[in-house]
Amino acid sequence: MKTAAALSRLGTESAFEVLARANALAAQGKDIINLGIGQPDFKTPDHIVEAAVKALRDGHHGYTPANGIPELREAVTADIAKYRKVTVDPANVMIVPGGKVTMFFAITMFGEAGAEIMYPNPGFPIYESVINFTDATPVPMPLHEESGYAFDADEVLSLITPKTRLIILNTPSNPTGGAVPRSEMDKLANGLAEHPHVTILSDEIYARMLYDGREHVSLLEYKHLHDRVIMLDGWSKTYAMTGWRMGYGVWPSNLIEHATRLSINVHSCVNASAQFAGIAALEGPQDAADEMVKAFDQRRRVIVDELNAVPGFKCPEPGGAFYAFPNITGTGIGSMDLQNKLLNEAGVAIISGTSFGALGEGYVRFSYANSTRNIIEAIRRVKECLNSA
Ligand code: PLP
Repeated sequence: MKTAAALSRLGTESAFEVLARANALAAQGKDIINLGIGQPDFKTPDHIVEAAVKALRDGHHGYTPANGIPELREAVTADIAKYRKVTVDPANVMIVPGGKVTMFFAITMFGEAGAEIMYPNPGFPIYESVINFTDATPVPMPLHEESGYAFDADEVLSLITPKTRLIILNTPSNPTGGAVPRSEMDKLANGLAEHPHVTILSDEIYARMLYDGREHVSLLEYKHLHDRVIMLDGWSKTYAMTGWRMGYGVWPSNLIEHATRLSINVHSCVNASAQFAGIAALEGPQDAADEMVKAFDQRRRVIVDELNAVPGFKCPEPGGAFYAFPNITGTGIGSMDLQNKLLNEAGVAIISGTSFGALGEGYVRFSYANSTRNIIEAIRRVKECLNSA
């Protein structure tokens, strides 16, 4: 059998592999605490579930328009107006099955041999995977611990060449928890005015998860970039809906037709009842979503203190999302070795920083989407395991 060469270039998201290994160990009776996977440990709020059940009972069983039902796209634009203070036309919104789909569409629209695509490193692993899949050249945008893992706008601008087609930004960030401040975003947006050939994919899936009064700075705010910003968001993280597969992209007018065509070729439309749930999520009470962020904030404080008390660990305060990304070089153990050691010997699932790009060596990711009790117990085990090494 001869398969396409591109298949060999496709990477993966190790969090799913670690989850499978953790589940296999748990099935053998091992006590595993999972701080590996990036999904809220909360249930989807009831009123959202009920909206999906009602939609099914009301007979919403057929295809919907490929770009999503109009009421949902309108609800998305109202949400963007409320939280990002930006007016968007519902015609530019494309509902897709999960946040990842906008990413895949954007990268495959611009990626091909000879093109350069810049992406955060360490960053969400699917960026680099899909860039490689398209045969474009991945250009890492280094994120530095010293600046709270925010990008350095001058550095990003200096990496742009005539071949750069797409720059991927992600704030708040997975895996670092870094949140880019307005000053740095302004600098980048101003600099991008000089590079009209560059499109920007702004992954804002953690936009509602920010701490200590930090503000979310959306790329949609910059009017001069409107015709070349693709904004990615979705329901997975904000409403604890990872399994529903609900996401959206806001596309520039000249790209929305391509995105619609890709959708028609791939999935036709998103599950109709899930779309009704999506409306209930955006238009209904926000207390559950807000409470979840409060809980993450409390756990964030706990985990940062606990991690900084582990000999050889140094953990900056994450500004957003639900990840801590400590520097572990002081342990003298490599990132992947530490991931495997902690899973096998301490029953604690975490993810090696190298799963997020080569610049993740020396770091590991802890997801704090778990109870405070489990977090404290996990880090007690980490200390015990490293002590006995
Ligand atoms: N973007 C980032 C930065 C993420 O961390 C994730 C999920 O972990 C996604 C996108 C994908 O979200 P979804 O599960 O909705 O596809």
